[in-house]
Amino acid sequence: MFINKNAENKKLKNNILALAAEAVKAKKLDNSVINATSGMLKNEKGILYEFDCVAKALKELSVTEKFAYSNSEGTPNFIKAVLFSIFGKYLEDIKKDCFVDAIPTPGGSGALNLAFTNYLNPGETVLLPNHMWENYLNFAKDMGVNSDTYRLFNDEDLFDIDGLNNKIDELKMSQKRIMILINDPCENPTGFCMKEKDYDALLNIAKNNPNNDFVFLMDVAYFDFYNVNPDVIRSRFAKFRYLPSNALALFVYSGSKSFGLYGLRIGALVGLSKDEKEIVAFKDASAFSSRAKWSCASTLGINLIEKMVLHDEYRFDYEEEVKFVCSMLEKRSDAFLESAKKVGLKTLPYEKGFFICVPCKDPEKMMNALHEDKVHLICTHSCLRIALCGINKDEASRLPAIIKKRLDIIEK
Ligand code: PLP
Repeated sequence: MFINKNAENKKLKNNILALAAEAVKAKKLDNSVINATSGMLKNEKGILYEFDCVAKALKELSVTEKFAYSNSEGTPNFIKAVLFSIFGKYLEDIKKDCFVDAIPTPGGSGALNLAFTNYLNPGETVLLPNHMWENYLNFAKDMGVNSDTYRLFNDEDLFDIDGLNNKIDELKMSQKRIMILINDPCENPTGFCMKEKDYDALLNIAKNNPNNDFVFLMDVAYFDFYNVNPDVIRSRFAKFRYLPSNALALFVYSGSKSFGLYGLRIGALVGLSKDEKEIVAFKDASAFSSRAKWSCASTLGINLIEKMVLHDEYRFDYEEEVKFVCSMLEKRSDAFLESAKKVGLKTLPYEKGFFICVPCKDPEKMMNALHEDKVHLICTHSCLRIALCGINKDEASRLPAIIKKRLDIIEK
């Protein structure tokens, strides 16, 4: 075989995009199929959700703003827009204490790719949550990086900071630099959300381990859908301005999730540190890797996001529309959880977001068996993931009974 050693076992398993495409086909043949596979927001009629402000802004971009080459570094306005999206009114204070910069990427996936490429050496280990978007394992494999998991929540359904600290103590024995991936809020696949004090606890990890270096890789892809007041989550992100000098924070931003621009492939990686040299290195290495991997991100995506965030008339419309989307998701999650309670179907701790999880013994078997019930969803190693973002309220209400019935047959 000519293929190199690291590429030998590169084969997508349980590929969400492929399973979602199968579900779309099944639904085309039979409209009663419930497609709860992919993480794309759909309206109550099952049509991909388009933000009005996106549609409006799209019409106003010139041909150059849409299709010219961008550059690998990103424009000053795009960077301003991304930093403002994530940190809002806290940005100016952050800049007083820290250095912060951003780089456009093809989606949050591109941002994760850069973080795994430039902040771990091959053979090092990254700490991932035990319930996770399993694509993280592919990024690790692709970069020749190992992974270990920390327990996301404890028996009281609270962020398991002790579990994370134990894992760090173990990893400290073999590795000075420790990268911890946190997917918050609206964690994929559970919908679990950390509390404000959990962010303080994260910072304390670095303070309590002064002989180690920490990279907090914050995947905040779903942050817009946590609270209709965006400052609630931004104030937590802003806590990273108190990072000690042995830590760096990277934020993964996704235009797919924030603005429904899934196929456009736009996102960003944000770097934040007390040390200017770290942020210069972040920008140089990120731009270099971008150029080497995909040249530049989508110009159309860059200019759309810039318009949507930096121009008040679009931003105000967006903020209103996000409120509508949050309430639509809440109606679906309420409907699902209410029915789940009625039929005695167990779920993992859900607070907000696109997904909800049902734990089971053999998720893959369940996922396949549910096709007989005309239900398509995704499995992880421990659960079934139901994409609330892709089903309507009525389907959300009907699903628990269908899953419970099948679970009773499979796990009897
Ligand atoms: N992070 C999480 C947790 C996700 O679920 C996804 C997509 O499903 C992404 C990042 C990346 O999405 P994209 O590359 O489309 O921005």
